[in-house]
Amino acid sequence: MVDSTETESRKLLRRLRETMAGEEAGQERLNRITHLIADSMVAEVCSVYLFRDEDTLELCATEGLAPESVHQTRMRLGEGLVGRVAKYKKVVNTPDAPSAKGFRYMPETGEERYSSFLGIPIQRLGETLGVLVVQSRDARKYSADEVYGLEVVAMVIAEMTELGAFVGEGAALSPLHQQSVLLRGGTGQEGAAEGHVWLHEPRVVVTNPIADDPARELERLNEAVEELRVGVDKMLEMSQNGDKEQLQVLEAYRMFANSKGWMRRMEEDIARGLSAEAAVEKEQSQARARMSQVADAYLRERLADLDDLSNRLLRILTGQSAGGGAELPPDPILIARNIGPGDLLEYGRSLKGIVLEEGSVGSHAAIVARALAIPLVVHTDRVTTEALNGDHIMVDGDQGVVHLRPDETVVKAFRDKIAMQAKAQERYASIRDKPAVTLDGKRVNLVMNAGLMADLPSLDGSGAEGVGLFRTELQFLVRNKMPKRSELVALYARVLDAAHGKRVVFRTLDIGSDKVLPYMNPQDEPNPALGWRAIRVGLDKPGVMRMQLQALVRAANGRPLTVMFPFVAQFDEYRAAKAEVEKTIERERILGHPLPETLEVGAMLETPSLAYAPQKFFEEVGFLSIGGNDLKQFFFAADRENERVRRRYDTLNVSFLSFIERIVERCNGTGTPLSFCGEDAGRPIEALCLAAIGIRTLSMRPASIGPVKSLLRRSNLDEVKKVIHDARERGEQSVRASVMEYLRNAD
Ligand code: PEP
Ligand code: MG
Repeated sequence: MVDSTETESRKLLRRLRETMAGEEAGQERLNRITHLIADSMVAEVCSVYLFRDEDTLELCATEGLAPESVHQTRMRLGEGLVGRVAKYKKVVNTPDAPSAKGFRYMPETGEERYSSFLGIPIQRLGETLGVLVVQSRDARKYSADEVYGLEVVAMVIAEMTELGAFVGEGAALSPLHQQSVLLRGGTGQEGAAEGHVWLHEPRVVVTNPIADDPARELERLNEAVEELRVGVDKMLEMSQNGDKEQLQVLEAYRMFANSKGWMRRMEEDIARGLSAEAAVEKEQSQARARMSQVADAYLRERLADLDDLSNRLLRILTGQSAGGGAELPPDPILIARNIGPGDLLEYGRSLKGIVLEEGSVGSHAAIVARALAIPLVVHTDRVTTEALNGDHIMVDGDQGVVHLRPDETVVKAFRDKIAMQAKAQERYASIRDKPAVTLDGKRVNLVMNAGLMADLPSLDGSGAEGVGLFRTELQFLVRNKMPKRSELVALYARVLDAAHGKRVVFRTLDIGSDKVLPYMNPQDEPNPALGWRAIRVGLDKPGVMRMQLQALVRAANGRPLTVMFPFVAQFDEYRAAKAEVEKTIERERILGHPLPETLEVGAMLETPSLAYAPQKFFEEVGFLSIGGNDLKQFFFAADRENERVRRRYDTLNVSFLSFIERIVERCNGTGTPLSFCGEDAGRPIEALCLAAIGIRTLSMRPASIGPVKSLLRRSNLDEVKKVIHDARERGEQSVRASVMEYLRNAD
């Protein structure tokens, strides 16, 4: 089906390609392109607007508007018709532009003379690069065919931009992917790092957007799709006995791979002059643009499947493999949309930093990054599209900021910051073997949180006095099948060996909520944080818990053992769990295995209910550890995983501190040892306040021990306690400001 419009559009694409191959400099090239398009569309005006920065569009070339307005006329995202096209990523096609919604008159361009307006977003893989506009004097609406033809041209301009066609002498643009960019995200793990980009999944580069033999391109597309279909069928066959979810995804792949609509659109793109690769990418681009606008989670996932499938197809067409066969650059900083904990562990300590486009603070990847003490920034919009392999990059995990291809001033400031941090580290190292004793003589026990073998070297390096929380689920999370008892015995024994007699608190499996084991059926719960998790799973399905307890007893092999149960909400749960420990000990005794020299069994206080448990519970429980991360989310009813609300309530809010004080009083009344092991224990000001209200053991990430100890050794806890109480008396909502003020004056 080759009608006259298609021939016309192919002719235009051929001319565009000639322009690409020519000797012209960037600006001339772009001028020539606008001229060719205006000519081909029989329009008086053709203009190209490109993004100057994140929300400013600039007129970069025009045929028909006043030439002096080039590089002068600018508009903000959403402003005027051009701004609307860019903002909503949608075509605007109107015969009467001056009366269209959003029209903005720009005198310098002389555009009031033009009535019809057709604006097309220039986008590549869902990222909008600019807007292509044609205008004419007569009031006409462009036909669907003309719109389609111009979309194809916009796609080619996007590819040319990506390839740097408009860069160079008299450049219309600073080269894309060469400008320095600042991206903001959220803190996943503190620390600063400088290095080079390593894309976990490098983008496929299409170097030939235009083709002149459509029949050959069609053939290439059909061959590649066939290879893709065979591949998907094979994966399906292999997964027949696998888990249901994976099967569903593969079924969706097969559906898309066989979708007539998808194929037809790509065939039409080729008929208009695009290469097979460019046709795939055009469809992918549009799917991505739709993805950002679809609210339905299921549909979004299907569009993500289509995206993945398009990537596979592109790889087949271009012969580029997933890893690209490239080698890690020096000081690699990993960039990914998302990454699983297993993949991250494979990279291990070779990484200097990690930047994720999605990710979340509580994700497994974040947990692993913390264990490896690698600076991590999450929720960094656009990073996977902005960064290229090997780019110079600086990651500020403290501020959640990423500098891509930074300029000299940023590099200098950043290096100063790294040097300052190194100095602080030296200071902390000098007090590493000193106790955390405050100015008024109070001794605070600083221990560390751990969960992976990778954490253990920190026991010596940080000056931690033991492990206050060993999150055993991490070992379960980073595998793809349930570990065997013998493996657990070996692992726990190594942990105890590495501790050299220091106390290690092993927390039994804390799964459910955000921690879902890949090899367990996911539970479809309306509210997983309040659902079937931690000790609830352990008591309802005791098999795994029993295996774990047995492994712990065997690993202790006659040494002291400390076990802690997570998420205990009432006395009975603790009693039942403790009974399991006793049964395990009894069984091991009968089997003739050595029993732990001493045995401590405790509970985590993570639900407000446990703070009001009967006195008898406080007398019976071996020790308590406040899991502040969970406790705080339930106290304030603010999901710790939800970016919108998780920072809304300050830990130093007087209500929360009063609540913790109440727990301290109850524990003091019964002589129950109490510690605090949520993330807040590792934040110096929070740690100081917790110590001031009477908590004497704080468990935190190893890197926090130095800063917390340093502050405690310079502080007087009685005075801080008074500051807290006075702030409360004055009716302040949070004691933070008062404590900071006190510290400033005390320095
Ligand atoms: C907590 O909830 O504070 C805690 C230490 O446990 P986790 O973060 O593993 O839920
Ligand atoms: Mg918890």
